[in-house]
Amino acid sequence: MKARAREILRVERLSKTFGGRVPACSAVSFSLRQGEVLGIVGESGSGKSTLLRCLAGRIQPDEGKVLIASDDHIIDLWTMDEASREQFLPTTVSLIHQNPRDGLRLDISAGGNIAEPLMAAGGRHYGSLRTTALEWLQKVDIEKRRIDDLPEIFSGGMQQRLQIARGLATHPRLVLMDEPTGGLDVSVQAKLLDLLRSLVRELGIAVVVVTHDIGVARLLADRLMVMQRGRVIEEGLTDQVLDDPHHAYTQLLVSSVLQG
Ligand code: ADP
Ligand code: MG
Repeated sequence: MKARAREILRVERLSKTFGGRVPACSAVSFSLRQGEVLGIVGESGSGKSTLLRCLAGRIQPDEGKVLIASDDHIIDLWTMDEASREQFLPTTVSLIHQNPRDGLRLDISAGGNIAEPLMAAGGRHYGSLRTTALEWLQKVDIEKRRIDDLPEIFSGGMQQRLQIARGLATHPRLVLMDEPTGGLDVSVQAKLLDLLRSLVRELGIAVVVVTHDIGVARLLADRLMVMQRGRVIEEGLTDQVLDDPHHAYTQLLVSSVLQG
């Protein structure tokens, strides 16, 4: 019998409210294993980005736990001290933004964008950093001769592929993607989805991908969680949720009435 893959992330009753109003996230719980892709769908404002930012260490939740596997133990992200969290996060968790400009350094070269997180993780040797940068450019289908170009002059699709290379080069265990194909042309989106699928398979990373696009969810996610007003209202295997949605809101989402 095949052993179950290791649990990489466990979220327990996570809640976050901004400014004493309606909770952006309310008692969200789930877990994720190595090699697994969890999709989160829900209309705009349902709390998807807030949840992701709590998992990425960017926003502190009001309540609940974010437990992440480290080499030989489990880290409780929001009870560790800030200095330890800042040391732990860059090599373990990567956040891919919808807008590549939010996840890139536009003032340094494409190669520099890949080398920078490797250097932060302890890489020192110029030759090996450049070799790794070239390998990653190839993986994400950017010509090697572009290594010294500034990403400022790249197309949106190329910038997004570079952001993915920058985010994955340090081999994080957990990759969080917020609408990774949003804002791109449909043909560029399709190529990017193919790339993401093959990288996930090749690297065996655990991925949480937020999207409001049911097509993206169907292509990338093994399991789906549906959010409405900060709560998880339905979850299950992607095909089950999309082909036989139980909740009326999920039925509306799937029929694309609420998309956008
Ligand atoms: P989604 O990503 O699903 O569109 P968000 O997580 O961005 O949803 O937003 C969930 C709710 O939290 C919304 O009502 C939004 O206005 C609110 N919200 C998100 N970020 C902030 C913030 N920094 N300050 C105040 N309210 C916020
Ligand atoms: Mg969002």
